[in-house]
Amino acid sequence: MNMLALRSGDDIIVIDAGLMFPEQELLGVDLVIPDTTYLKQNKRMVRAIVLTHAHEDHIGAIPYILADLNVPIYGTKFALAIVRKKLEEHGLLDKAKLHEVAAGQTTALGPFQIEYLHVTHSTIDCVALAIRTPVGVIIHTGDFKIDPTPVDGKPFDLHAFARYGQEGVLALFSDSTNVERPGFTPSEKAVVVRLEELFRAAPQKVVVSCFSSSIHRIQQVIDISRMVGRKIGFVGRSMVDNVEIAHSLGYLRIPDGMVVRAQDLKSFDPKKLAVLVSGSQAEPMSSLSRVAVDSHRLLSVEEMDTVILSARIIPGNEKAIFRMLDHMFRRRALVYYDNSNGLIHVSGHASQEEQKLLLNLVRPRYFIPIHGEYRQLFRHAALAHQVGAVSGEVLLLEDGQPVEFTAEGAYRREPVPAGRVCVDSGSLEEIEEVVIRDRKHLSEDGVVVPIIAIDKHTGRLESLPEIVTRGFLPSENGHEVINGARDVVLRTVEQSNPEEKMDWSVIKEKIRVDLKRYLNKQTSKRPLILPVILEV
Ligand SMILES: [Zn+2]
Ligand SMILES: [Zn+2]
Repeated sequence: MNMLALRSGDDIIVIDAGLMFPEQELLGVDLVIPDTTYLKQNKRMVRAIVLTHAHEDHIGAIPYILADLNVPIYGTKFALAIVRKKLEEHGLLDKAKLHEVAAGQTTALGPFQIEYLHVTHSTIDCVALAIRTPVGVIIHTGDFKIDPTPVDGKPFDLHAFARYGQEGVLALFSDSTNVERPGFTPSEKAVVVRLEELFRAAPQKVVVSCFSSSIHRIQQVIDISRMVGRKIGFVGRSMVDNVEIAHSLGYLRIPDGMVVRAQDLKSFDPKKLAVLVSGSQAEPMSSLSRVAVDSHRLLSVEEMDTVILSARIIPGNEKAIFRMLDHMFRRRALVYYDNSNGLIHVSGHASQEEQKLLLNLVRPRYFIPIHGEYRQLFRHAALAHQVGAVSGEVLLLEDGQPVEFTAEGAYRREPVPAGRVCVDSGSLEEIEEVVIRDRKHLSEDGVVVPIIAIDKHTGRLESLPEIVTRGFLPSENGHEVINGARDVVLRTVEQSNPEEKMDWSVIKEKIRVDLKRYLNKQTSKRPLILPVILEV
């Protein structure tokens, strides 16, 4: 969920507004977006959101943020097309102010002059930003790798970076995602050899899954299909949408007569067919997941079909993806998902040698690693030290840590609110932290419901307390613990005075506290305790 704010005097521009898909620990949460408290507090200063490219981790939060902060959005043609689609789905398109920009152009926003520099990455139409500010030029790379043979023929604009390097750059903010990898990241084109080999060898149809934003990969699959005499089909909402958008904007070349309609896929000669399907990360309801268990209306995988996963396995998704692939193996498909016999996917982020090249070209006074976990930022900082191209200081920052640049130097300032906000998709509602804490609590330690029946008039217990549990059962001594819990409740009620017994909120709280202490001592767990009192 990338987001950076740049402020000069009373003007703020925001670079990217991404979302994150939740980790397992955020139970039942659909999406995570950045905390924008700082921007809301300084609402009148925010001039614009400027986008580097169309990936979810850079644009996904826009619909949620625009609801409170309807500022103009600047982005390249493809990035804006994807944003437009999102805003349409959220019913926000009418009010949005979208400004299309292109590499080589410059936008003036308050005291900032932004030049867009073309960079290569795993999707199309990506830019870095060179921002002229009153104290010097700041370069923000966005996501990049330095691809010398890009699929769309548009190379990384090394010249522009060199030009700024020569002029003098105050600060470089650079993508750290792949800083742990030595060497160079292979070109997007590097996958062609192996993909073509697999396509030619395929005895039946070929099913390829990649990120639906990987327009380069989609183009390659179309080209290879044409080369080997196969027609192409598209399955999955995001795949179909993105292909449609990219094609209508001229970013995808699809020869006439090449596309097989979705409803004809099942009856089409499998020897002459390739299908691009979304759902490479085995998202629960995605097309590929459904195809894997043979519950997709339009597509099935049969014996001897070739299934190619042309996407990185995002850490955290391994289990789901391999479970999905197991289904494909059970169907006796020929399944390819790693690079062990030739590249079928490549990363979109720069490895160490590309990072070094960029540092040498830009030679900034200050260097700030961005995009990545802390260890990656740390290693990127170490790499910058090693290269020695930073004349001033390398600043290793955590989220919410502002730096102020003046003519004299760079200074760390008081942290501002930053962090994550959880949302349920389909709504614009935020989920409060406390709700997630409860869900976590429930999932780990379960719930215990002591039920007691009190006679309203006498204040006496009508029967022995009942203890109902869910997701909480101490293994070997379960019975003993439950019996003990019953005694605790009994004792708590008996030792309470008549007045306490008449006030149910008091008696409930006493039961909860005593039971909590007892259960924690017996089981070292902290289940959620919800006393219920029946009036008889
Ligand atoms: Zn990206
Ligand atoms: Zn990214």
